Amino acid sequence: MQGYVDCHCHISAGDFDKDVEEVIENSKKAGLLALLAVAEHAGEFNKIIELSQRFSGFVFPCLGVHPVQEVPPHQQRGAAPQDLDAAIPVIEKYKDELVAIGEVGLDFTPRFVSSESDKENQRQVLIRQAQIAKELDLPLNVHSRSAGRPTIHLLKEQGVEKALLHAFDGKPSVAMEGVKAGYFFSIPPSIIRSEQQKLVKQLPLENICLETDSPALGPEKQVRNEPINIRISAEYISTIKGVSLETVMEVTTQNALRLFPKLKSAIRP
Ligand SMILES: [Zn+2]
Repeated sequence: MQGYVDCHCHISAGDFDKDVEEVIENSKKAGLLALLAVAEHAGEFNKIIELSQRFSGFVFPCLGVHPVQEVPPHQQRGAAPQDLDAAIPVIEKYKDELVAIGEVGLDFTPRFVSSESDKENQRQVLIRQAQIAKELDLPLNVHSRSAGRPTIHLLKEQGVEKALLHAFDGKPSVAMEGVKAGYFFSIPPSIIRSEQQKLVKQLPLENICLETDSPALGPEKQVRNEPINIRISAEYISTIKGVSLETVMEVTTQNALRLFPKLKSAIRP
């Protein structure tokens, strides 16, 4: 199995509108086997489905409501239950195509939450989507920022068994509670400039996946990230773990297949 899986990227972002074809071609040349395209709000669901049809067998759709919602033109706020109204019917409509529900989660960055009720709103949005994922037998693709512990605790309380914690910024000890629950953690290229290096050291390779979060979380701040940078995550993990790049590729791709079994159509052993 020669190749990588980008378990979390935003290929529907406006940043890729002009050259998405080229970005996808370059990803394939760089050894990617599949991309998981995650959503942030109902407004981009159709675009993600279209991309997954256009790049069928390579771009795999995940639909979900992110804990931070855009308020055009340039503001952001925490998610609230009414944000699910437009989302749920589209999730239902495409349930057979989806490989996961996401991007969902909790983000307690102070500028997005100013009160306990803001946090509670985000929790309710996550709980509802965890229920939907369970009903549809789909894994969750999860964001957590300044909320590592509450996110993992909520997932466990809700009986979530299949989850990917993307770009986890919590303590390694909290991440290890997730490992015990069977969760996976995906490492973005920004790891080379982050303070989460201890996390990679502690996580067993059997619980690690790769992601880019493109166009965000690249190796360089403010520069558009692309799926080809998945190799930077893999190389970093290989160095920290003292195993070959081959091994990182093999194991993380196996992990992705275990968590997202619908990828089997794209990846043959
Ligand atoms: Zn993301």
